[in-house]
Amino acid sequence: MRKKIVAGNWKMHKTYEQGISLASEVINMVKDEVHGSVEAILAVPFIHLASVAKLAGGKVGVAAQDCHIMKEGAYTGDISAEMVASTGAKYVLVGHSERREYHNEQAPTLYKKILAAQAAGLTPIFCCGETKDIREAGTQNTFVGAQLQDALFALSESEIKNLVIAYEPVWAIGTGLTATPEMAQDMHAVIRQKIAGQYGAAIAEDMSILYGGSVKAANAQSLFSQPDIDGGLVGGASLQSREFVEIVKAI
Ligand code: PEP
Repeated sequence: MRKKIVAGNWKMHKTYEQGISLASEVINMVKDEVHGSVEAILAVPFIHLASVAKLAGGKVGVAAQDCHIMKEGAYTGDISAEMVASTGAKYVLVGHSERREYHNEQAPTLYKKILAAQAAGLTPIFCCGETKDIREAGTQNTFVGAQLQDALFALSESEIKNLVIAYEPVWAIGTGLTATPEMAQDMHAVIRQKIAGQYGAAIAEDMSILYGGSVKAANAQSLFSQPDIDGGLVGGASLQSREFVEIVKAI
């Protein structure tokens, strides 16, 4: 059965103490709301991982927002997937549009990050999505298809099964603009078809595909009720405990 996931991406927010306080509040409020095939995930800055992982557990998981492609070495300032896993985190975001934009991360690197994450026992949450220009030109399906092809399609069947996809149109991230449920559903169906074309219908059916881009309590239910939307990757709204918990409840 396809897993339903609501993941909060804190980005570069919260000091250590602020983060522990937010995580405690959220975890206390959501732990009774997540059962069965539903999971809540907090994608927190590296400094919070180990402490938040101790507070989490069960159906509340923890994710890093990035990892390095190498297992260890002379890479000052970087964090390996193995180091992330040693904190108790179970997931890592790969290819968030802000990493692509500000760190020039491209498909070959993302592919290596996915392999590094999986080798360390983590599940990658692979982010993809088109910019405003591409949406306006109407070429978003081809663009996102190429993002999948270039970063994912060298993965084996067992590797692709251990991966979550987050569709995040760049024009909707942090802008207050949200794709309509129909627009998001259309793209999620395209993504699922592309996965089916490469790996077969059964693997595509089991793939969790999250929507991200200004998800909030007020729009979560209409997005999550679409047949190919299996949850959300939530940025800004995950910094407010009550708002995030309402989004988790909507799943
Ligand atoms: C994100 O950072 O992944 C995101 C979707 O941000 P926001 O919800 O703030 O648009």
